Amino acid sequence: MRLVTVGTGTVVPDPGRASACLWVERDTERIVMDCGTGALQGLARAGLPWGDVSHLLVSHFHTDHINDIPALVFALRHGLATPRTAPLHIAGPVGMRPLMERWAKALGDWLLDPGFPVSVSGLAPEEVFPLGDATLRIHPTPHTDESIALRVDAPEGSLGYTGDTGPSDALADFLAGVDILVTECSLPDELAADKHLTPSRCAKLATRARPGTLVVTHVYPQLRERDVADGIRRAGYEGRVVLAQDGAPFAIGEATG
Ligand SMILES: [Zn+2]
Ligand SMILES: [Zn+2]
Repeated sequence: MRLVTVGTGTVVPDPGRASACLWVERDTERIVMDCGTGALQGLARAGLPWGDVSHLLVSHFHTDHINDIPALVFALRHGLATPRTAPLHIAGPVGMRPLMERWAKALGDWLLDPGFPVSVSGLAPEEVFPLGDATLRIHPTPHTDESIALRVDAPEGSLGYTGDTGPSDALADFLAGVDILVTECSLPDELAADKHLTPSRCAKLATRARPGTLVVTHVYPQLRERDVADGIRRAGYEGRVVLAQDGAPFAIGEATG
């Protein structure tokens, strides 16, 4: 499995960090997790084959996580040298389908009928969703009414993504033992808010979840100037921690495709 942190920023415009987006590829799956403002350009900038995306998975409905969904579908419809025939599976929290339908009313029927099959699913917690021979599971996060974290378990390894979240021991337990845990870390500890994490809260989450590598993303400008990884270590986390950059690649287990 291969992970690229395509967009590591937030809602704040940033010349170095697009809004939230991860690229995950393994076997025949090409997965985009979140697709915030700037994600489509970020996929191209990272040299990723965005036209091959098979799944678009969404953590919640804030604009820094969904804004480029219509742009991606429009690019798949009009921007490929060879017209696409492969289906696109879009999945997110309950409410994903109504959101896409409202967007289609405003933007055009092409959004749900772009010339190739599009499926849209709202995911319910406790279900297990197949991704080839891997599985996707979700867990609610304390951020918005609908927000979820994502976990992919594959034969070669596992990946967790918090989406946006406040502190939650239940979330840490859900993400326990993944090879790579991509976690948000929005704000410095002195600006702690209920619905986001800070370095010390990331340390607590990771100490409980014990990932192979902690990859930190969704960093607000107030925090970026500091050494986020050091802050997490100073708060007591003893595992490997990396501050994500736009376009940075990570390997999980043996590459399978
Ligand atoms: Zn966000
Ligand atoms: Zn959010």
